[in-house]
Amino acid sequence: MKNPAQVLLFRLLQRVGGKRRHGRPMKAAQQFRQRMVLPGGPLLAAHHAHSDSRAVPSGPSKVRNHALPNDIQPSMSPKPSAIELVGVTKCFGSLVALERTDLVFQAGKTTILIGPSGCGKSTILRLIVGLLQPTAGLVRFEDRVLSPETILSLRRRMGYVIQEGGLFPHLTARQNILLLAEHLRQSPEEMRARLGELCELTRLTPASLSRYPLELSGGQRQRVCLIRALMLRPDVLLLDEPLAALDPMVRANLQVELKAIFQQIGQTVIFVTHDLAEAAWLGDQIVLLRQGRVVQSGTFAALREQPASSFVSEFINAQRKLALV
Ligand code: ADP
Ligand code: MG
Repeated sequence: MKNPAQVLLFRLLQRVGGKRRHGRPMKAAQQFRQRMVLPGGPLLAAHHAHSDSRAVPSGPSKVRNHALPNDIQPSMSPKPSAIELVGVTKCFGSLVALERTDLVFQAGKTTILIGPSGCGKSTILRLIVGLLQPTAGLVRFEDRVLSPETILSLRRRMGYVIQEGGLFPHLTARQNILLLAEHLRQSPEEMRARLGELCELTRLTPASLSRYPLELSGGQRQRVCLIRALMLRPDVLLLDEPLAALDPMVRANLQVELKAIFQQIGQTVIFVTHDLAEAAWLGDQIVLLRQGRVVQSGTFAALREQPASSFVSEFINAQRKLALV
């Protein structure tokens, strides 16, 4: 299994479970472990295969990202930064997935990571959520650096939605959503209240909660994923192409709803997409990447009116042409 969300959930459950030796595991978590052939089964192996190869030793990278405009330089940040990449490089063997990059994600804002396939968008999210470790540099969450010691507590403050959703097919929507909250022994009243709140926020009909992922529409599945990510009231919401698999009508509706949700919750959101219209609609700041480098960052208007390179104009024009077809 190579699904990062499932791997992440498993690791959280395993770590938390390990600390509660005297406690009785919750029902959903038990079911989860049995079905996933845990512990130490294929899921663990998949995690190691998926995560960091650390093939390149740490140290200052020769490649520098010079394309950063002032508006994302740490010292120029007008609001406190929720998350910061400081000189982060990520290599997979000889492949440089992310060149040395400094990037600030401002608290309470929605930042869009956009760019062609393979440019490093998901890598950035995986570095932030701790599924990957930087080859060089560091990731900071407020004033704390992500490290093996801090990752577990920091991860609980992040909600992560991946493109394929990562819902467990053998659990109902409700069980999927409550998996971690149950494991962390939230009270049933607290969970019920939060779930009700989130169904309202995402406009998911409560009847859908009893269904299995395959019995839900694509739009409903994404709402369930969003609820799951929001369940523990994370400080930061990370979404990796959450709407990419949806048909255009559902996608357009969800874009409108997501914008309202982001405004309502006022959280720090990092949203990956390859769709410029979606980026322009949802983002306070857009970070355009190409081949592991930040090409330009700023508002959509700034990218359109003051493109930092011909690639920026080409990227914008290519998407405009697509929209006209
Ligand atoms: P995208 O912008 O499409 O999300 P990714 O961040 O997933 O791109 O990938 C960036 C580059 O890193 C790609 O060339 C991809 O093939 C490579 N890559 C990503 N994850 C791994 C991995 N676990 N092992 C090896 N290469 C990887
Ligand atoms: Mg990706």
